Amino acid sequence: MISVKKAQLIISKNIRPLGFESVLLNNARNRILSQDIIANIPMPQFDNSAMDGFAVRAADTKGANKSSPKTLMMVGVSSAGVSNDIILHPGECVQCMTGGKIPKGADSIVIVENSSGFLDSKTVKIFKEAKIGEHIRKRGEEVQEGDVVISKGTCITPSEIGILATFGCEKISVMIKPKVGIFVTGNELIEPGHKIKLGQIYNSNFYVFSELVEQSGAEIVMSEVIKDDKDSLQKSFSTALQVCDIIISSGGVSMGRFDYVREVYNELGVQEHFWKVAQKPGKPLFFGTMGTSLIFGLPGNPVSSFICYMKYIDPVIQNSQNKKRNSEEHQGILTKDFPVDSKKHRYLFGKSWIDSHGKLLCTPTSKMGSHMLTASLRSNCILESPPGKHELKAGDKITINLLNWRKFK
Ligand code: AMP
Ligand code: MG
Repeated sequence: MISVKKAQLIISKNIRPLGFESVLLNNARNRILSQDIIANIPMPQFDNSAMDGFAVRAADTKGANKSSPKTLMMVGVSSAGVSNDIILHPGECVQCMTGGKIPKGADSIVIVENSSGFLDSKTVKIFKEAKIGEHIRKRGEEVQEGDVVISKGTCITPSEIGILATFGCEKISVMIKPKVGIFVTGNELIEPGHKIKLGQIYNSNFYVFSELVEQSGAEIVMSEVIKDDKDSLQKSFSTALQVCDIIISSGGVSMGRFDYVREVYNELGVQEHFWKVAQKPGKPLFFGTMGTSLIFGLPGNPVSSFICYMKYIDPVIQNSQNKKRNSEEHQGILTKDFPVDSKKHRYLFGKSWIDSHGKLLCTPTSKMGSHMLTASLRSNCILESPPGKHELKAGDKITINLLNWRKFK
């Protein structure tokens, strides 16, 4: 049996970067950028109008008001999307629409509401004095050419999609997602939707893993429910070892008479790095590698497998993508005692929140059994403590792993 620290170190040494691939903008959602996005053009690209109005020389409008307007010669129209080489001379103005290029010689926009309007007449009356630079979006005022607008490692959300489009990127270089196989094992498992007989249990791990893998940003390429039967396990795992970067199995990895998972992994040539970690829950955790595939054998109890996933597999997926972790570690203060184990690292689901003084507080769930998945329902974090001689008391500090899809309450 090895320590949690050692187990995490062994796993981290076996993470291989998967490289990058190009995806179309439409398919880039939730992917991780593999390179910086550099502005190839300034934004805005040219001085343009922020309003529909008239491009003028501010000096020509000096003293203009409703009762004594200034009359200017209308010499052209500048509309969005149409390039023009109009040059504005003293006493002239140009109809300039939002996004239209500011003609040379103009230094301000008078909004159409402060003029006699967009008429086809040769002259326009201006009712308000213009200020230099007013309603003009200056070239490069938002982003300079050559600036890094999005840095690599960023997850692509609607904002990033918008900026990628703004800078004309059609194909985006993103990190390749790990290909994951999910396998749940157990003769007792029955699928939701079917009638359950005494002795059977509904398969929940499969559905939890599917969600968690999705949250981590990996791709599920295989998934199966397997009986506690060596041949079936062998068949499924040997295919998985050829197509998956990460194999996740649950169940069948403890000391039970029908726990064949570890044996089958070994028979298939998986190099075992560890089996059994000094932790509660999740002691029988198995980790092995074969080629570049990482193999995780998680115990079947729903809380054990959920917590093992978050502590051991989520970081692997995040690291292989150079992505921010899905569960951030914080230090918080307990409002209830936490049961420290003398030999094992202890994990419990819990609730954390920030009080009115800005302090991060937390409390462990009272449902402590590794079979009690309802413990996760009102929790927004996993609390953890290394082995120790004394129980942690209310008021003591503890490590909080915040689950990103939950909020601080
Ligand atoms: P095992 O690790 O196979 O000994 O399983 C430990 C406990 O977890 C047993 O009570 C199983 O019935 C339960 N269990 C195993 N697999 C699942 C699953 N996919 N969904 C829910 N519970 C499971
Ligand atoms: Mg089992």
